[in-house]
Amino acid sequence: MTGADADAAAAAAAAAPTPGAARAGHASPMLGIDLGGTKTEAVLLADDGRVTWRERLPTPSGDYDATLAMLAGFVQRGRAAAGGPVSIGIGTPGTVAADGRMKNCNSQCLNGRTLQRDLEAAFGQPVAVANDANCLALSEATDGAGAGHGVVFAAILGTGVGAGIAVHGRVLTGPNGVAGEWGHNPMPWRDPAADPEWPCFCGHRGCIETLLSGPGLARDHQAVNVKGGAAGLAAAPPLTGEAIVAAAARGDAACLATLERHATRLARALAGVINLLDPDVIVLGGGLSRMAHLYERVPALWGAWVVSRGVREPVRTRLAPSVHGDNSGVRGAAWLGRDLARRGAHRRA
Ligand SMILES: [Zn+2]
Repeated sequence: MTGADADAAAAAAAAAPTPGAARAGHASPMLGIDLGGTKTEAVLLADDGRVTWRERLPTPSGDYDATLAMLAGFVQRGRAAAGGPVSIGIGTPGTVAADGRMKNCNSQCLNGRTLQRDLEAAFGQPVAVANDANCLALSEATDGAGAGHGVVFAAILGTGVGAGIAVHGRVLTGPNGVAGEWGHNPMPWRDPAADPEWPCFCGHRGCIETLLSGPGLARDHQAVNVKGGAAGLAAAPPLTGEAIVAAAARGDAACLATLERHATRLARALAGVINLLDPDVIVLGGGLSRMAHLYERVPALWGAWVVSRGVREPVRTRLAPSVHGDNSGVRGAAWLGRDLARRGAHRRA
């Protein structure tokens, strides 16, 4: 057999559904796929968290069938790279509704589709599907900034604001699939004079996301600093979040003030989380999590809102950036797939 023949044979074997994969349980390498709006990445993780194979492709735009075909290709090549069955977990920008249909995806072609069911039918094995914030929470709780801690709250501060909760190494889900959707709670301890109540895409006003996301940071800077309508805008075009951070680093007073308003609001929003959940660690992911000042400034501020009457003591919750950064999505998806395979093997035993 030539090398090419061997490759073809391996690919053919890998393409066939392998119902035995779930029975192999934790012995199988873990395939994690991060299905993003513009690109999709797949990795194989070994049991110790090492990445042994990785692939990235552009996500087919607005085409559900082409998306399924792309995912099938990843599974086929992942099985071939593993030399056998794999557990499969997929991270998506949305969540799985109780009836199995996808909801809240910014890739509109996924909404209303039974992604998990369709993939399980295609691959002949259980497939875990979870949103990207839950993947971040599990990834960081397993071998990231929250490793070894019981309760981990992981928030994504990016284009939007979402979060996931991991409790003793398991992602917390619920009957509505919305655990951690703190970005669409109202900003707590709102200052009517200083906190705008902008409309949010979810249909409400004044959501945490509208103020703490990257676009929220940029909009807040503009609202405070640009006066005089169109003429003012022409004189001072909008700055992106990145530009504000860069200008603040150069000592720009207005940009420093914008970052301080953002840090104070994040401190209030996370104090609300601490009062409700009292996590051991709060992990930040997403583009804004790279702002180093947050890890000093927010814990210095949040004690003002964490309830503690009579005795003044430091807040013990730790605030940390994600260890795995942009890889948290694929890694968390892979760990989720392993958990599902283990539970499946357990039920059959
Ligand atoms: Zn909202």
